[in-house]
Order: sequence, then structure tokens, then C-alpha cells
Amino acid sequence: MTLSAIPVIFGADEKTRTAIFFAGIALMAIGPLVSVLAVSSCFGTILSGHFLACVTDFSFVIFGGVLLFVGLITAVVGAVVQDAPPPPFTGPYRPPAAPQSAEVNCKKCGAVYGVDRFFCPSCGQRR
Ligand SMILES: [Zn+2]
Repeated sequence: MTLSAIPVIFGADEKTRTAIFFAGIALMAIGPLVSVLAVSSCFGTILSGHFLACVTDFSFVIFGGVLLFVGLITAVVGAVVQDAPPPPFTGPYRPPAAPQSAEVNCKKCGAVYGVDRFFCPSCGQRR
């Protein structure tokens, strides 16, 4: 996974993000497994007297560590994106400093709007 893949993940739909999350979990499970197998293989190689052959196993230990790390990042990205709420946009912005007296109630629907408006923004009723 490269950094350029992250915006793609963030733009993915929920099903894809769930798949990404479980792919990360799978990598986190496989990573240590590869490391443990490589380490045990390495010890076996050392015990049998072939020290140099252990270098190949050691690369697998690192590979397992990388898998664990990538899996962790992938799972976190999948989980965070999945739980992230939509952008906090709760309707049009109303200035909090607006005085209460500058607002009127709509006669038709009861919506509160500024006296500077000539009609209700909710139903269009003229004042
Ligand atoms: Zn109205």
C-alpha cells in the first residue's frame, strides 16, 4: 500500500472499507505467523550448522513484521474511515450574535427568520 492509495480508501464505500478492515486484520494475523515460522526455521538452520542460510529466513522475519505493520495501518484506516461521521454540516449557518428582536415568527408555518427578509425561507409566506 502506498500513500497515494489512502485517498482512494477514504473515498471507498462502506462495503469496500469493511473489506479493507478485514484485509488488515488478516495481514496482522499472517504477519506474526510468517515471522514465527521464519524464526523457528532460522533456529533450526543455526542448530544444523548452516548459519548463512539463516539470512534468507531473517528476511522473512522482516517481511512478517512489515505485513503486521501494513495490516495494522490498513485495519486502522478501514476502521477509522468506517466510524468517521459525515462532515458536521447542520444546515445553513446562522450568526449566533443575531439579536432575538431581529427575528420574527412566520404566520403560516411558525419558522423563525430575520426581519430583514421579506418572506419566510421555509414556506415562502410574505410578511
Ligand atoms: Zn413559513
